[in-house]
Amino acid sequence: MFDHPSFDGHEGVHAFHDAATGLKCVIAVHSTALGPAAGGCRMWNYTTGDALLTDVLRLSQGMSYKNAMAGIPLGGGKAVIWGDPKSAKSPDLFRAFGRAVESLQGRYYTAEDVGVDVSDMAVVRQQTRFVAGLDEGAAASGDPSPVTAKGVFLGIREVARRQFGTDDLNGRTIAVQGVGSVGGYTCDHLAAAGAKLIITDIDHEALAAVSKRTGATIVAPNDIYDVEADIFSPNALGAIINEKTLVRLKVKGIAGGANNQLVVPEMGEFLRRKGILYAPDYVINGGGIINVAAEISGTYSREWVEGTLSRLIETLGEVLDEALQSNQPTNYVADRIARARIAAARPAR
Ligand code: NAD
Repeated sequence: MFDHPSFDGHEGVHAFHDAATGLKCVIAVHSTALGPAAGGCRMWNYTTGDALLTDVLRLSQGMSYKNAMAGIPLGGGKAVIWGDPKSAKSPDLFRAFGRAVESLQGRYYTAEDVGVDVSDMAVVRQQTRFVAGLDEGAAASGDPSPVTAKGVFLGIREVARRQFGTDDLNGRTIAVQGVGSVGGYTCDHLAAAGAKLIITDIDHEALAAVSKRTGATIVAPNDIYDVEADIFSPNALGAIINEKTLVRLKVKGIAGGANNQLVVPEMGEFLRRKGILYAPDYVINGGGIINVAAEISGTYSREWVEGTLSRLIETLGEVLDEALQSNQPTNYVADRIARARIAAARPAR
């Protein structure tokens, strides 16, 4: 563990096995310096235990950074359950997972992630109160996507202001990859602001619906990297900024909600050299975790969510300005600020 390439001084890495239900899961608590660790639970059919461990170590570190940049009183953690979400789910499995979360006595709060939905979390809630992302209950926060999308839209304006001298998106062309929950709501904001949209998705129904209500032009999934646009907004997959796509992009900015957009951190430097201003993914997409944090606080308040989101976008602006002034990649600047915030909070904790 301590020699693992993705180990980053994690406070705790907890492996759980439940023979009766077949649950195999790992909960990684990266940092509780800023508050209890929070991050979703992913269910995935990993090919090896090492692949699972790499994922949970990296994802939990990413949550520490995301929560620190969002300015919320939460640390970073993540859970992964080993299994195929299409065939291996059962209420008993999620009850066993709930007992695992409960055993950490509030050091870690869970929620939905890939392969896990609201109904699974409702089962987890039977065993532990350290769970968020529910659609019932006193402080239920429901679907985080609209808040994430609002942050993405505001982040696109921050990028536009620095690249074009104005954040007015009227007449600007935005290429949007993925028009699911986050991408779809983002398109609505962009269309209302007068932007011209070029969209792609592998889901034809979603494409048709978004195009109908926003007037967006549809292109094939692989063509989105070649279109003439001002800003590219990735809202589907990770690792889409790589050596193959980099050379094709003609945009001046990248600002979208997808997690882990850069295939490797060094891509940030290549984007900088190309004159493309990149809004670091875990900063611009922090709206969802802000919404979840409101639920964890026990009293959901829309005003608090809106105010915290505004501060996050100010932080994004500061990251972009510092990167531009010091000729550094934006993702390096964001990482440094996140690490400093966590380190500053640790002694007080
Ligand atoms: P979603 O499943 O609702 O939407 C994703 C969309 O991407 C789907 O419509 C899907 O068909 C499309 N897609 C998949 N493969 C594609 C491809 N090859 N080309 C084009 N489109 C493709 O998911 P979401 O909740 O909107 O999340 C989108 C991204 O944002 C994910 O990376 C997620 O991790 C990240 N994110 C989401 C939230 C949130 O609040 N939902 C918060 C933070 C980050």
